[in-house]
Amino acid sequence: MDFDARLAPYAAHSSKSRGRTHIEPPAGSRSEFQRDRDRIIHSTAFRRLEYKTQVFLNHEGDLFRTRLTHSIEVAQIGRTLARSLQLNEDLVEATALAHDLGHTPFGHVGQDVLNECMKDYGGFEHNLQSLRVVDELEEHYGAFDGLNLTFETREGILKHCSVNNARQLGELGRRFLERSQPSLEAQLTNLADEIAYNNHDIDDGLRSGLLTMAQMEEVELFARHRRMVETQYPGLPGRRALYETIRLMITAMTADLVETSAALLKEAAPQSIDDVRAAPPLIRFSPEMRAETTALKRFLYANLYRHFQVNRMRVKASRIVRELFEAFMTDPVLLPPDYQVASGDTLQQARKIADYIAGMTDRYAIKEHRRIFSLDSL
Ligand code: MG
Repeated sequence: MDFDARLAPYAAHSSKSRGRTHIEPPAGSRSEFQRDRDRIIHSTAFRRLEYKTQVFLNHEGDLFRTRLTHSIEVAQIGRTLARSLQLNEDLVEATALAHDLGHTPFGHVGQDVLNECMKDYGGFEHNLQSLRVVDELEEHYGAFDGLNLTFETREGILKHCSVNNARQLGELGRRFLERSQPSLEAQLTNLADEIAYNNHDIDDGLRSGLLTMAQMEEVELFARHRRMVETQYPGLPGRRALYETIRLMITAMTADLVETSAALLKEAAPQSIDDVRAAPPLIRFSPEMRAETTALKRFLYANLYRHFQVNRMRVKASRIVRELFEAFMTDPVLLPPDYQVASGDTLQQARKIADYIAGMTDRYAIKEHRRIFSLDSL
């Protein structure tokens, strides 16, 4: 079957994939990237995303985004963008569904604290952890550890990486040392992520009551689309007006990205993925849209991500993660046997503890903290 028939020459072609670490026979009815996507969906880490925080704690409300619904929205937006630019939808989908697999419980605060705890043991980066999940930690197959994904999907998962860590990653780390670009599909998934969270965080922020409509009027990108909705549907009430506004914003952002990137691609005219790697980033917003999304991000940071009620959750969550880490480092015998390092090597033990904590869902981390520290339930 020709899975690459409708792709542009600069797309990632399944038939030209740089392949998997462990050689496997072709997937038959599926392309290599479809197979990657399927392995990701069947992984344990993927199911855990349902109970991991995006902004709000998983149990704070049934309708807030979790890492799982966020990842699905990224995949949906990413596929639409990929199709418009004749890029590989399957690779974008696989990358989008896997991009947050390494996230700790409690969102970004979890990763910041774990990184501090790990500072003498090689640090902790959630992008690198996502890669570690698919390369090593998943236990699904007889022949290898991890999911044995293609180079291209793994490249897309590793959005950022410190130079030190990049040096240890061989081929995959090379672009961070040479400052070359990943596939267009990886570049695109990165921006689909941004489109998804910028929009769904407005929805969740308003739903939670931490943001108000009046406040949102400060953000020009939102205010402009809100006015368009008001013109088309005068007096449209509450949630419908909000959803219509967000819908128009997503459309505006995706249209801008497709138009800008199509023009850049036409000008640079890359003939292969190798040309793409050597070129500057070609998937981009226009400078005007970039300025507007930056203003929106700043607004969300100041008014939502640093809202005092969110701060309370952040401080509590950071205490849970730090105390768990310290307790396990002091007494590794508290760990499940799989996570105890028999040799007593501190570096290895710290990494195992980071793997254990990073793999926890929000509620599992809260329960584990209670099991270890509560004197009421001896
Ligand atoms: Mg994300």
